[in-house]
Amino acid sequence: NRQLVLAERPKGEPTKDTLKLTEASIPTAGNGQMLLRTVYLSLDPYMRGRMSDAPSYAAPVEVGGVMVGGTVAQVVTSDIDGFAVGDYVLSFNGWQDYAVSDGAGVTNLGASPDHPSWALGILGMPGFTAWAGLTQIGAPKAGETIVVAAATGPVGATVGQIGKLLGCRVVGVAGGQDKCDYAVAELGFDACIDHKADNFPAQLAAAAPDGIDVYFENVGGKVLDAVIPLLNANARIPVCGLVSQYNATKLPDGPDRMNWLMGQILRKKIKVQGFIIFDDFGHLYPEFAKDMSTWIDANKIKYREEIIDGLENAPEAFVGLLRGENFGKRVVRVAQG
Ligand code: NDP
Repeated sequence: NRQLVLAERPKGEPTKDTLKLTEASIPTAGNGQMLLRTVYLSLDPYMRGRMSDAPSYAAPVEVGGVMVGGTVAQVVTSDIDGFAVGDYVLSFNGWQDYAVSDGAGVTNLGASPDHPSWALGILGMPGFTAWAGLTQIGAPKAGETIVVAAATGPVGATVGQIGKLLGCRVVGVAGGQDKCDYAVAELGFDACIDHKADNFPAQLAAAAPDGIDVYFENVGGKVLDAVIPLLNANARIPVCGLVSQYNATKLPDGPDRMNWLMGQILRKKIKVQGFIIFDDFGHLYPEFAKDMSTWIDANKIKYREEIIDGLENAPEAFVGLLRGENFGKRVVRVAQG
């Protein structure tokens, strides 16, 4: 049973010493348990937070512990009703080949789901995050302008496409021309601006001539800086993530703009609300699942995945995700299903 364990807490970007590949024996499932073999491991930005022991909404992974992570697995042996050998399940095996489960928190996807790995993306946590953050906090009305960064990732791409279905103007922000072209040509965004361009703030302003009503916050940093002056009165900011800051070791230099920001929020009556998807919106999951499967069946939502082969390649693929090297939802194929 190959396992990737947290060898040390990273300072800044994780290095080759952060995670170590180790080998343990394959566990045996007892009464009322099942043995799961990981087929796909999801890579998600929140995992950087679990490597750190800074205060957060969830406990960190212990040093020496197996890295946590969402997985799609197959049942190898089962002593649980409703889980048969060969079934695909959505589980939380972490970064390892095998795990034993008592079935708690595990969803059976059936013997032959169409796209097993999609349960880690558009049909799972990231898709739900986009749907809930946008509809419950962003609450866009037709004709309003939405801005979302990490626009081709699983959350951002879904936010933008739902925004279009709701009749909004959608402006994406992404790293590089290829991603921006994809957001407009394939995902149907009205515009997409490369945050690496020198005149990024001016380009963003030109793409949002009527101002910004909903800023779906995925990244923070210079995108947030460029957005704030463009926000309209009564704008909403669902604060979903701040991926540009996840490897940061200190606050950026510069004048303290905390009170300037609060002044903007006050004068423009802006609503800023953070959320942790399952804590805040778990009860809405069935509604999301119904909406999303309807949209996918009707070809109204597109989904792009990037498969990385081999558990041993997961650490490097994860560092690349935080750098923006992924193009679409990054998933590791740990075994052939
Ligand atoms: P992505 O697959 O989109 O990966 C992160 C992307 O962030 C990168 O591909 C890159 O895209 C972008 N990025 C990285 N650094 C910067 C930077 N300095 N400036 C601008 N963009 C940058 O991730 P997800 O779709 O899985 O997640 C998106 C966000 O949602 C994350 O912040 C994540 O933490 C958050 N999240 C929050 C949840 C919650 O419950 N609150 C649940 C799930 C996700 P590019 O190259 O285009 O810049």
